[in-house]
This record gives sequence, C-alpha cells and structure tokens, in this order.
Amino acid sequence: MLLSALAYSHALMNQTIQPGDTVIDATVGNGHDTHLLARLVKDTGKVIGFDIQKQAIDTTKRRLIEAGLDQRVQLHPIGHENIVDILPPAETVSLVVYNLGYLPKGDKSIITTPGSTLSSVKQALSRLKKNGLVLLMVYYGHQGGEEEKDVILDYVESLPQKNYSVLHYNFLNQKNSPPFLIAIEKK
Ligand code: SAM
Repeated sequence: MLLSALAYSHALMNQTIQPGDTVIDATVGNGHDTHLLARLVKDTGKVIGFDIQKQAIDTTKRRLIEAGLDQRVQLHPIGHENIVDILPPAETVSLVVYNLGYLPKGDKSIITTPGSTLSSVKQALSRLKKNGLVLLMVYYGHQGGEEEKDVILDYVESLPQKNYSVLHYNFLNQKNSPPFLIAIEKK
C-alpha cells in the first residue's frame, strides 16, 4: 500500500531518529509532529520547536505535558529562521521537519513565507548530521502557497548531488493541490 505523504514523512522519522538525538520541529503548529519526535528521541534526546504563534506553542505545551514528554522539548515562540542562533554552536541534528502553510483550525492568514522558510532550510542543512534528514511537507493550496512551493523546489533541485539526495514524494493524479513531501538527506 502506498503511504500518504504525511504518513511517509512519519515513517522516515521512525526510521531515522535514534534515542538521544537532537531534532527540530520548525513549524510546531498543534504539536502532532513535536509529540512524535519527542517519543522517538526518548528521555536522553531533545526536540527544539519553533512557531511564531503563541496559540501553537501553548497548545503544544499542553499536549506534551499531558503525555509526560515536556521535559525533552524546548519550545521557542519565534521564527524558524533563528535555528543557528538557538542551537548551541557545536550541536548537530539528525532531523528537521517543516509543515508549510497555515495552522489547522487557526488563523489562515498567518502562513509560512518563502524568504524565512528558505533561510531556515539553509540553516538546517548547515547543522545536519551525515545521513540526517530535512523533511518538508509542502501544503500550497492557499494564497501565497504556490510562490513558496516554487522557491523551495528551485532551491532543493539545485543542491549538489555529491552532498545531498533530494526526494520529491508526490501523487500525480490527485486533485486540489495535494500536499507533497520533500526529503533531503545529507550524504
Ligand atoms: N506540524 C503542525 C501540526 O502538527 O499541527 C502544523 C504546522 S502548520 C501547517 C504551520 C505552522 O507554521 C503554523 O503554526 C504557523 O504559525 C507556523 N509558522 C509560520 N511562519 C513561521 C516561522 N517563520 N517560523 C516558525 N513557524 C512558523
């Protein structure tokens, strides 16, 4: 059976993350990925989360406390374009995940934007371990979404094959701008 793009992103997280790893959720939102990442790093690992909306940070904090996972997660109420300022200088990460677009059930006018997403992805790659992954779930059906999609696709297609493997996981016959996954592996 083919996995949906979201399910495939979760399968890659399961496959890649080891207990004790440091990982990043670059778009915390309602905290579904943050929760999964926190389970996978176990109690010796660390999740660093970013979101510009207080509502997202608060919802996720509650979710993590209820699950008893809050001690292994640092939530930052700032943009993901601050990765290199937040991550300690010598620290590298095994996985960074983005869910682009707007917060489900939230303010649809607050969206990820091409400039900050691109800056963040470059920072993420600069701190990624060998065999680590950057995952981007690209939702682009909203206003502004196409522009961000094109900027990100242009950038990832330009990454040198010598240093990175870039996967585009996309259903070709689905209607209404189905979300797709980009996975970048550092060689
Ligand atoms: N993964 C989330 C979940 O499990 O619910 C969904 C994330 S949602 C599609 C996108 C999120 O990105 C929103 O919560 C929005 O506030 C956030 N966002 C927008 N710009 C951002 C930025 N520059 N840095 C970090 N988060 C940002």
